[in-house]
Amino acid sequence: MDVFITSKADFDSSIQRMIQQNEIYGVKRKTPSFAFDRLVAAEELCLDYDITVLPPTKYLLPPTESLIKFKLAPEPSIRSSAEAQPCILIGIHPDDLHAIKLLDAVFTGSLTDVNYLARRRATTIVGVDCVNPWPYSFAASMGTAIPPRIFDLWLTDLGDEYLVEVGSARGEDLRKRYLKTRRAREVDLRQRNKVRQDWLKKYQLSLDMPPQEIPKVLDEAWHSPLWEELGQKCLACGSCTMVCPTCICFDVRDGIELNLKEGERYRRWDSCMFDGFAKVASGENFRPTGTARLRHRLYRKGKYMLERYGELGCVGCGRCVHACLVDIASPVAAYNRLAKEAR
Ligand code: SF4
Ligand code: SF4
Repeated sequence: MDVFITSKADFDSSIQRMIQQNEIYGVKRKTPSFAFDRLVAAEELCLDYDITVLPPTKYLLPPTESLIKFKLAPEPSIRSSAEAQPCILIGIHPDDLHAIKLLDAVFTGSLTDVNYLARRRATTIVGVDCVNPWPYSFAASMGTAIPPRIFDLWLTDLGDEYLVEVGSARGEDLRKRYLKTRRAREVDLRQRNKVRQDWLKKYQLSLDMPPQEIPKVLDEAWHSPLWEELGQKCLACGSCTMVCPTCICFDVRDGIELNLKEGERYRRWDSCMFDGFAKVASGENFRPTGTARLRHRLYRKGKYMLERYGELGCVGCGRCVHACLVDIASPVAAYNRLAKEAR
């Protein structure tokens, strides 16, 4: 394991040089919230934030994205739009990195999504431990508050210094080119373990069972009164899915220019909570009620994605808990209630 130490003062000047030579997206304060955005100066970067409004997955699966461009006449042609500029994402939290791991399984598994793959390959990930979990997060109890090893560099705040863990050859290249580091000692690693344990204790919400037991709970919960209770209040606004780092549904459309000779096929985010999401050509709607859609969303997060991709579809970030205007979107509240009903 290659682990180093850099002082915060040195780190700030390294970031400034990185910004001058690379396309960097990092976390900025957007009072009263935080958001990933293009960095133009090192002092904009905020690494002790609690949560960003949208997750960093928006750079890998953007809200709208061109898929192909086509020409109809005089010589018909189709060209893929899959291309991506190299960029660095800095400040990703562990739970959002777990979400990227799931997206990798979905988009680069047995079916490869060329647009996602191009963006993913062009993206360098510099993550940071979450020192200030916000009150809606339950990541610690989901096992997602420690990062999976798919980062290029990982930072842990040790006070006046960052511990820097190298996760890939690309990360090592970045470290050598920009960071002034010394090798970490045993005492530094012990310090990291200690601060991580302290941060884990700060999470206020928690799942009442090991996350692996969620599918078992859901197996018995199809007819629970909970779905009707929550579903009747649902506004079908889709906010819970728009902010979610593991939501991946999109709609594909064709747009044609006014000259009727060229156009593009594009995709844009969709939501299983919209009432038309499961409507098919004959007019049949497989999930016509809020009750059916809400149940589907929580089964997908807690069971279907695990069965299909090997990862749970919820990383416990809590964004949906906060985003829902009628306070019914919380996976942790639902799973805890269903577990209680099963006992
Ligand atoms: S379902 Fe909610 S808590 Fe879970 S990952 Fe999505 S937004 Fe975060
Ligand atoms: S659960 Fe809440 S946030 Fe999600 S669609 Fe219904 S009302 Fe909107």
